Amino acid sequence: MIAPLELVKGMELTPQACVLCGNNPIDENTGEQQDAVFAPGVDVDWGSSVYICKSCGELIADLFGRVTKEGFDRLTTKYEKLKGEHEKLQDQHERAKALLDRIRDGRAAVRENKAQTKREKVK
Ligand SMILES: [Zn+2]
Repeated sequence: MIAPLELVKGMELTPQACVLCGNNPIDENTGEQQDAVFAPGVDVDWGSSVYICKSCGELIADLFGRVTKEGFDRLTTKYEKLKGEHEKLQDQHERAKALLDRIRDGRAAVRENKAQTKREKVK
C-alpha cells in the first residue's frame, strides 16, 4: 500500500528532483528550498524517490479546477466590499425600523389621546 503523500521542504532523497519536470526549485528571494510533494515508499527507475515540485503541484491543482490565488484574491476583495455594503444596509434598516416604531407609537398615542378626549367630553 502506498503511504499518503507528504508535503516536505526540499528533496533529500535521490534523485533530488521533481519526477515531472526534473527541477528542484528554490525560493528566489530567500534561497531556501521550496515545498515539494513527496510520495513515501514509491520508487521509479530502480530506486529513485518521487517528488513533485511546487510549480508542478500548482499546475496539477489548477488542472483539477482549484481556484487560482488571483481568483481567490478577487473573490476576497469582492466579499469584503459586499460585506461592507451589507453592514451599511443593515444599519440603515435598523434605523428605519426604529423610526417606524416611533411613528407607530406616536400614532397610537394620538389615537389614545383622541379617545380619552372623547370620553371626557361625554362625561
Ligand atoms: Zn516539477
